[in-house]
Amino acid sequence: MNRIVLLGPPGAGKGTQAKRLSQELGIAHLSTGEMLRSAAAQGTELGRRADGFMSQGQLVPDDLVLGILRDRLRLPDTGRGFVLDGYPRNVAQAESLTEITPIDHVLYFEIPESVLVERLSQRRNCPTCGTVYNLVTQPPRVADRCDRDGTPLVQRSDDSEEAVRTRLGVYREVTLPLLDLYRRQGRLRTVPASGTVDEVAARVRAALQ
Ligand code: ADP
Ligand code: AMP
Repeated sequence: MNRIVLLGPPGAGKGTQAKRLSQELGIAHLSTGEMLRSAAAQGTELGRRADGFMSQGQLVPDDLVLGILRDRLRLPDTGRGFVLDGYPRNVAQAESLTEITPIDHVLYFEIPESVLVERLSQRRNCPTCGTVYNLVTQPPRVADRCDRDGTPLVQRSDDSEEAVRTRLGVYREVTLPLLDLYRRQGRLRTVPASGTVDEVAARVRAALQ
């Protein structure tokens, strides 16, 4: 089965590759960040609680994220597998994950921090369908409009310089230790995440063999 976890810092290209993988393999793309942003946009109770943490670049409390993920895993489209992007982000979340589902592959997207800052400052998102662009490396066909539905693109509030700095700090402090945990289990495969989207996609496919 293809139950895949993508680990790596913000901006490493997890969402971009996860979307591709889900299309190529016919599996569900589960992004906890997208789930939380959608809850915030809909103004649900959970979304309101999550929003303040997200816009500052802090992690949302574990119980909120676990709840939303557990509900999502119950939907039938995960039956053929899934690619999980953005979870787990700390050791406690990794432990919770093993309690709710088995995992077949753990891929770590490795990339220099200077590339991340550059990628995140140029990232733009479609608020309607979630497609991710980059003004430099993945520009839309028509300036500032989504290729799929023409919606004006937006910049995520947590892609501000200050929030990016916080997110990278949080990543180093609480997410990086996860790598050791999966490495000790002999499950971690490292994918160099610099290079073009196609180059990284080829490495991801090789790592899943
Ligand atoms: P993550 O989900 O890990 O935060 P994203 O997939 O949103 O990362 O990618 C971050 C930014 O970098 C986006 O603007 C995306 O278009 C761009 N991007 C993703 N992969 C690549 C790549 N291989 N080369 C150049 N830009 C990329
Ligand atoms: P992402 O879309 O993965 O970059 O996530 C955006 C934001 O959503 C993060 O900075 C956190 O505030 C929140 N978030 C996403 N996934 C998690 C998670 N697993 N645990 C805690 N917060 C999360």
